[in-house]
Amino acid sequence: MTGATPERRAFHEFLARHRRFLLTTHINPDGDGLGSEVALALWLRASGREVAVLNDSPVPAAFEFLTALQAIQQFEPALAEQRFEQADALIVLDTSNRQRVGRLSPLFDRHVIPIAVVDHHVSHATGFGQVNVIEPEASATGEIVYDLIREAGTPITREIAEALYVALITDTGSFRFSNTDSHAHRMAADLLGHGLDPQRLHIQVSAHASAGRLRFFGEVLTRLEILEEGRLAVLEAAPEQFERHGLVGADTDGLVDMPRSIAGLEVVALFSEVEPGKVKVSLRSTGRVAIDQVCTRLGGGGHPHAAGVMLRGTRADARARILPELHKILAALEPAGRGSAA
Ligand code: AMP
Ligand code: MN
Ligand code: MN
Repeated sequence: MTGATPERRAFHEFLARHRRFLLTTHINPDGDGLGSEVALALWLRASGREVAVLNDSPVPAAFEFLTALQAIQQFEPALAEQRFEQADALIVLDTSNRQRVGRLSPLFDRHVIPIAVVDHHVSHATGFGQVNVIEPEASATGEIVYDLIREAGTPITREIAEALYVALITDTGSFRFSNTDSHAHRMAADLLGHGLDPQRLHIQVSAHASAGRLRFFGEVLTRLEILEEGRLAVLEAAPEQFERHGLVGADTDGLVDMPRSIAGLEVVALFSEVEPGKVKVSLRSTGRVAIDQVCTRLGGGGHPHAAGVMLRGTRADARARILPELHKILAALEPAGRGSAA
């Protein structure tokens, strides 16, 4: 969509200069990070390069099928040392925040490895690589990888198309979120032309819930609070609930999106106390207001309409830091229908 920018040209040159690549993405990886890794790995291998993929955190069950296309390993100190020694370049996908790559981050300095970053987050827009392809207008990092592959003239195989489709549907909420645009739909149309089965991929990505996860969602949703004259929905999950249902933080994926269906709602805030004293805050805007600054100011990040931050303290502490900020944003908003679209 952006055309061959200087950064993209620098990225293609970066690929041409190196032979053995190590790919990684952010902690608790999602379909965009993992799909982008797999698509890029398949592209690089088709171009005769050696590729390894190593992430801080494990691959969630929903995305495990992607590992049939490309092995994805989880951080382990000895393995990480070995991978960094073997690689002559590192590519970081779907985050431009060093802290978000987790336990791989300290190895960047020790191994003095050249780094390229490909990402679509606004918060850390300068990047920490020698090459930084950071395009906040892209709906998914997979969309940038798709553009890069096409610029390189490499054929898109069905496997690459599948990995990119997973990236795209994950970050656009299956083409429902405000980042969905004509480029995302054109890309999807093109990917479908390469023989992938969208229904099968949707089932593979979405049909991984345990009964416990659904009961957990039910419990949390029962206590849904509606504040700010119907514009703000607040959800809370307690450590006891995670424990009783045998869940971890990543299992809340999708929960914060459920209240979006309430008429007149502008913002959803989910406070997940994943373990005592550690609260994962997820914010979503239905499109009129930007909420990323609320998280960025507290050390987190994200996009204008989907952002998050991890806070120390109780859920009450987290609410006290977040809700007044959301109040200010919502109080400044014109009534629905009269305000301009964000
Ligand atoms: P989540 O609410 O975890 O689904 O995250 C929504 C968006 O915010 C994603 O684009 C994340 O990359 C970003 N995000 C979430 N948590 C953090 C964090 N602690 N630091 C930076 N970005 C975050
Ligand atoms: Mn991501
Ligand atoms: Mn993403």
